[in-house]
Amino acid sequence: KIRLDNVVKTFDTFRAVHGVSLDIESGELLALLGPSGSGKTTILRMVAGLEYADGGHIYFGTEDATDIPVRDRGVGFVFQHYALFPHMTVSENIAFGMKVSKVKRSPEAIRERVEELLALVQLSGLGERFPGQISGGQRQRVALARALAVDPRVLLLDEPFGALDANVRRDLRRWLRRIHDELGITTLFVTHDQEEALDLADRVVILDKGMIVQQGTPEEVCRHPENAFVMRFLGDAN
Ligand code: ATP
Repeated sequence: KIRLDNVVKTFDTFRAVHGVSLDIESGELLALLGPSGSGKTTILRMVAGLEYADGGHIYFGTEDATDIPVRDRGVGFVFQHYALFPHMTVSENIAFGMKVSKVKRSPEAIRERVEELLALVQLSGLGERFPGQISGGQRQRVALARALAVDPRVLLLDEPFGALDANVRRDLRRWLRRIHDELGITTLFVTHDQEEALDLADRVVILDKGMIVQQGTPEEVCRHPENAFVMRFLGDAN
């Protein structure tokens, strides 16, 4: 379980995150939903350890995250523009994290794991292609396989399907949900797309101007929007 307790982040004089408190339960798929600039990415980066909170605490289990170096947090990332290495094949991209990881694996073990991951993301047989030779949706599946390769405790996804067209996004949603259910990995998913969040997540946290304005299951937030902002923001999806 990951807990954010009254987390604050200020850039110069601009407060991007205003005292956010949030529990991310083990194994759940939680969506952080909000308009551009609402602080979603900043929260994700703080969980990852790429950015430090200047107020409040983040806990991984009972441990204060500030005591855990980024490498040891066990987080896997996929970003919208998290480019694969273009000069490496799909398999080499997936293997990359395993090669630089503290956990040493034999070349044979790495090969086996890559095959397993290719099968998981339904790209068996494409391992020898280069990123330029596969589709955008397939590239994001490779990025996910790469993030999963090091057995992260938590998966952080920042608009991973943002650059893709609507049909591909819908397919990838279904596909991500299936993988999540299969692996049961704690997942924090950032999106500004209401439909995507409501369709995909176990629970949705809605942000506005760096504050949580509502959280609940997709059904709860749709049925009982707590304020005018949520009502307006979810309006498009209802
Ligand atoms: P988007 O969907 O557009 O990425 P977001 O909800 O993820 O939006 P953040 O990227 O977390 O929002 O940004 C929140 C606010 O903090 C924005 O107003 C942004 O301009 C500001 N901000 C983010 N990072 C920095 C930075 N390094 N320096 C200054 N301001 C920043």
